[in-house]
Amino acid sequence: MSGYGQTADRLTVKEQRSFMKTIVRKIRQDTEVFDEQEQEALRLAGSIIRGGGLVAFPTETVYGLGGDALNPASSKKIYAAKGRPSDNPLIVHTADMDALEKIVRRIPESAVRLADAFWPGPLTMIFEKSDAVPRETTGGLDTVAVRMPSHPAARELIRQAGGYVAAPSANLSGKPSPTEAGYVIQDMDGRIEMIIDGGDVKIGLESTIVDLTSRTPIILRPGYVTAQMLAAVLGDVEEDRTIMRDDTGQAPKAPGMKYRHYAPRGDLTIVDGAQENVVDYINTQVGLARKQNKKTGVIGTDTSISEYSADVCKSVGSRADENTIARELYRVLRGFDDEQVEVIYAESFDTDGFGQAIMNRLLKAAGHKVIHV
Ligand code: AMP
Ligand code: MG
Repeated sequence: MSGYGQTADRLTVKEQRSFMKTIVRKIRQDTEVFDEQEQEALRLAGSIIRGGGLVAFPTETVYGLGGDALNPASSKKIYAAKGRPSDNPLIVHTADMDALEKIVRRIPESAVRLADAFWPGPLTMIFEKSDAVPRETTGGLDTVAVRMPSHPAARELIRQAGGYVAAPSANLSGKPSPTEAGYVIQDMDGRIEMIIDGGDVKIGLESTIVDLTSRTPIILRPGYVTAQMLAAVLGDVEEDRTIMRDDTGQAPKAPGMKYRHYAPRGDLTIVDGAQENVVDYINTQVGLARKQNKKTGVIGTDTSISEYSADVCKSVGSRADENTIARELYRVLRGFDDEQVEVIYAESFDTDGFGQAIMNRLLKAAGHKVIHV
């Protein structure tokens, strides 16, 4: 039922009742000083959130779908708009350190050091929650995830909204997170009050999540802030074992970790091995899928992409430039949906540093289907 330019008459009766006209306003991509129109848009967005409504907005990682984190009704609306299971906790976004004190039981010394090093920025920390945070926001948990984004429009919106904005990625549950406003509109038009279009995001993958409630900090989700960067500040840091492995048979650390994520509609398989073997294997599989009249796709890199024979071949950039791969990955995955590709093969990527976040998302998108050739 979703799709670009979704209109009320294409919705079911129940959805028509809740259909709303979504306001879309633009904010220039690299601005730190807002003009009058932008200020007005951010004020409007803030008042919508304070009034219990939802606004999608750009951050440096991906677009967020924001509601008042301290209002249980707002969190319920976020889950409904995304079609997200309500035991999958939301991240609370704040604009300054003072805000943190109200929503957590205590601030461990490790958090102060991490905040000094990485806030504002793409790092989420998990604390024991205070009574100010409703369980509707934390998916029923006694802990709360907090992030302070660096994106100027996100920061101004959080201030205008009263300081605490619960925001998962602004996509329908299960789909790749939006890295540009067009995909937010595709998923959320008619479901939320407002969308702020801030152009393309800078990082393209969700924040790193580190849990500070256990004795040794644990990375629950890799991101732009890498394990090495965290270790340099914390000394000791562990990694949850489900980061790079199939977690379906495991009790997940957080409920949200058990759900299928970032997946295109087509069937995605990662192929790992020497470049020549990978190209041969994928082209053979593409030929077989074609015989079954399936539309095929390949995710490759600038140097390899011309060697593939699939219907839709997409490069995520150069292997030497992980920042570009991260920024392109979700756009490429979404692009296969736009072109209705049914069978997709992806090359595999290095898992050092920021590469770990890239492979973590690709593995989840592929449901951990990896073939070694
Ligand atoms: P997002 O989809 O970017 O909103 O990320 C939300 C994810 O953050 C959830 O799926 C969880 O994996 C994680 N998360 C949020 N809050 C908590 C928490 N209190 N404890 C552990 N993980 C959390
Ligand atoms: Mg998400």
